[in-house]
Amino acid sequence: MPLVEIVPPAFDLDLDLCYATADNVTGKAIYAADARAYLLPEAAELLDRAVALARPLGYRLKVFDAFRPSEAQWRLWNTYPSDEFVADPRRGSPHSRGAAVDLTLVDMEGRELEMGTGFDSFTPQAHHARTDISLAAQRNRAVLLGIMTAAGWDFFKNEWWHYQLFNARARFPLFSDSALTKTMMAPD
Ligand SMILES: [Zn+2]
Repeated sequence: MPLVEIVPPAFDLDLDLCYATADNVTGKAIYAADARAYLLPEAAELLDRAVALARPLGYRLKVFDAFRPSEAQWRLWNTYPSDEFVADPRRGSPHSRGAAVDLTLVDMEGRELEMGTGFDSFTPQAHHARTDISLAAQRNRAVLLGIMTAAGWDFFKNEWWHYQLFNARARFPLFSDSALTKTMMAPD
């Protein structure tokens, strides 16, 4: 099953793959430095829909992570073996199926909106429906949730930045690095 590369300008969004550098919660690079973002075609289509819904509101999307090969999920799990935030690689993350995306909202100057916690902040405040974060952050999370769910995404209650296709585990297989090199394709 081919994956679509998520890259501007084909997708009108910002890209900042946090796991390709040490600037993430694990403090080390999980991906190669030249890592790219990929999603299943169905997920890529829903992401495009979300981009279009955000635009008239004066926002753009900034993607932190998309497809995560099974090998990378193991590296993450070995650092954070807690399934409150990291999927057990034996069960498999929707990310390893190309069916999940981590993202936030930015304004037209590319500045990230206040969301109460950073991306991959593995704390209770990262959960949806928290009222112990600023009102601005609650409002911004609600806007992101509204855009993404209206675009057709399912959400994850423990992470405000994570969205996935409905029933991803039942519908799509896990991909490894080697599967990706066999199946990846450039956007046309
Ligand atoms: Zn995620």
